[in-house]
Amino acid sequence: MTRITVAKGDGIGPEIMDATLAIILAAGAAIEVEEIEVGEKVYLAGNTAGIAKESWDVVRRNKVFLKAPITTPQGGGYKSLNVTTRKFLGLYSNVRPCASLHPFVKTKHPEMDIVIIRENEEDLYAGIEHQQTDEVVQCLKLISRPGCEKIVRYAFEYAKQYGRKKVTCFTKDNIMKQTDGLFHQVFDEIAKEYPTIENEHWIIDIGAAKMADTPEAFDVIVMPNLYGDVLSDVAAQIAGSVGLAGSANIGEECAMFEAIHGSAPRRAGQNLANPSGLLQGAIMMLNHIGETAVAEKVQNAWLRTIEEGIHTYDIFKEGISTEKVGTKEFAEAVIANLGKQPETFKPVNYSKGTALNLPKYQRKAPAKKALVGVDIFVHWAGTDPNELAEKVQLLNNGDVKLSMITNRGIKVWPDGFKETFCTDHWRCRFKPTMSHHIQKQDIIQLLYDAHELSIDTIKTENLYEFDGKSAYSLGQGQ
Ligand code: NAD
Repeated sequence: MTRITVAKGDGIGPEIMDATLAIILAAGAAIEVEEIEVGEKVYLAGNTAGIAKESWDVVRRNKVFLKAPITTPQGGGYKSLNVTTRKFLGLYSNVRPCASLHPFVKTKHPEMDIVIIRENEEDLYAGIEHQQTDEVVQCLKLISRPGCEKIVRYAFEYAKQYGRKKVTCFTKDNIMKQTDGLFHQVFDEIAKEYPTIENEHWIIDIGAAKMADTPEAFDVIVMPNLYGDVLSDVAAQIAGSVGLAGSANIGEECAMFEAIHGSAPRRAGQNLANPSGLLQGAIMMLNHIGETAVAEKVQNAWLRTIEEGIHTYDIFKEGISTEKVGTKEFAEAVIANLGKQPETFKPVNYSKGTALNLPKYQRKAPAKKALVGVDIFVHWAGTDPNELAEKVQLLNNGDVKLSMITNRGIKVWPDGFKETFCTDHWRCRFKPTMSHHIQKQDIIQLLYDAHELSIDTIKTENLYEFDGKSAYSLGQGQ
């Protein structure tokens, strides 16, 4: 018997959770449910995280969490419970299978059967944002080697376990050579360990276009957080409906399972909602806890019910569907089909579908790190970069000198174009004059002198070489 934490959530949440639990319990799932309250009521009671401390204790103790969608109240100050849960519990992998249910659910892509594996903890979702000048705000995009290794390995292990033929990686490393470049590099490294699984990399823009047009060209797709967030919704939608997709959030210790859609408050309390998305999440949960036979039984019964044309309003289509049902009746139809196989769809076989057992990340030996310059960012309301250069060059000394100024990344000094639009946010790059290296004291001196000259410095970024390889981007146009 596995004890799981259940949160019924808001809006349609309680109805679809009741339906889902009724189905999996009827199928014989050996689970014990421990319920917690999360979401709107908790937020509105003044808890900005949407979950009480005692509830965290339950989630952490049980390690497996089945969560219905919640409503995040409008207005500032409320933290997304999903993002916090994923990060607190180290749920680094988000898995979303998106398969067509043609001809029973309308889709332009009858052959589609893809699984999106999205990195779930880092990238722009680290949520580190600052306003730096009147005109410019920034969001830090953090990509780590452990983050990349864990998610890419997860994708290949998933492919191996579920007999998938190919893993594709989407990044934009032609532009973000350091961050997306690392993701791509790690993908290439790890792909070599799986010679029987095909691998390929696509630049995200053309890859996304291809996925939206010809999804059958893909199998498993792995990508950084933001791209995965956007494209997994696109994939679910073009497969048939966002209402049909579930997702698993997997960590080394804990896991959370959910539907990908929200709480649909306008549909709440009317016995209208489709419980399929949450049910798909629950099926992944059953596999995760080793209840593979029950997972298989539920999935086959669900496929059979969809085939029989017993549909909730969101996928109901005259001519294809046979009966329009509510949430409860849909669940009853699935329960009545338990033990039956689908006739048109291929029955699933989850005999090998248990939780993946991945090696723990091993930290590599540190590289030789050398400080070779510094970017000092300056808030300056002028418009002529030559004027700023004159001022900032006063900071030059025997050890360091100004080598370049960029504005929003594009080089504007020396030899800038007068056509380039400039904001009040300038990056001034200082490089050593004599030796190849600079010292931390040089940076402190630069900042001190800038302060004396009333130059408004807003931040610095150190320029490093790791093992002799430069580890920062050039200015655009440099
Ligand atoms: P939504 O997914 O709740 O609804 C979008 C549309 O899809 C609506 O027209 C709705 O009627 C329909 N729909 C969604 N799920 C359905 C289902 N199971 N059956 C039938 N129809 C369904 O998105 P939204 O309206 O943008 O968001 C509503 C609330 O949900 C917001 O407060 C949002 O913050 C929250 N939300 C929560 C989660 C989560 O908890 N995981 C995810 C997304 C949005």
